[in-house]
Amino acid sequence: MLAQQKEQLRKQIIQKREALTPDQIRELSLKVIENLKGLKSFQKAKTVMLYYPHRGEVDLTSLFEEVLKEGKKLLLPKVVGEEIFPIEVEDLSLLSKGKFNIVEPIGGKIYQPQKVDFVAVPGLAFDLTGCRLGFGGGYYDRFLPRVKGTKVGIAYDFQIFDRLPCEKHDVKLNQIVTPTRVITPNNP
Ligand code: ADP
Ligand code: MG
Repeated sequence: MLAQQKEQLRKQIIQKREALTPDQIRELSLKVIENLKGLKSFQKAKTVMLYYPHRGEVDLTSLFEEVLKEGKKLLLPKVVGEEIFPIEVEDLSLLSKGKFNIVEPIGGKIYQPQKVDFVAVPGLAFDLTGCRLGFGGGYYDRFLPRVKGTKVGIAYDFQIFDRLPCEKHDVKLNQIVTPTRVITPNNP
């Protein structure tokens, strides 16, 4: 029942996201980046894990270079088996398509999740309690419990709902950033 509800919502949002034009994605993503840069937790973070956009996700790639320039450590996720690993990225030309056709680092050292200060978490939908709906693989749910740093959901405004069908294993986010809002859940 819950699984069916989640599946329907996933389809609906993927459709909406894939209908965005490259110009819309660029414009909205820059607004998200501005809001993200306004967060204290991001400003203070020495180690920042972002993600490479997939199927119309908010595009944070223009932030990659800035993070490196500021002397922060940049990490990108790599999927190996059923797990996500944070990989250190020093050279942005060393990226290529991996599992699920998502661009990820080639080689690179695995960084300890416990030491990551800030994680930008992609997703299909988020709610006002900090709950997240992903593609259905549970990858971030398995990864995030090991992260002690700040977990921030990244979304367009149409991906925000009052309440999502959430389960016990779904990891809650500390904040959610959209082009127009920074949401701090009341019970994160
Ligand atoms: P998503 O978060 O990608 O939307 P779900 O939350 O629906 O996906 O999780 C999908 C599946 O992943 C779950 O049915 C469960 O089998 C598995 N899963 C999620 N979290 C964990 C976990 N912490 N440990 C083991 N398996 C998990
Ligand atoms: Mg989940």
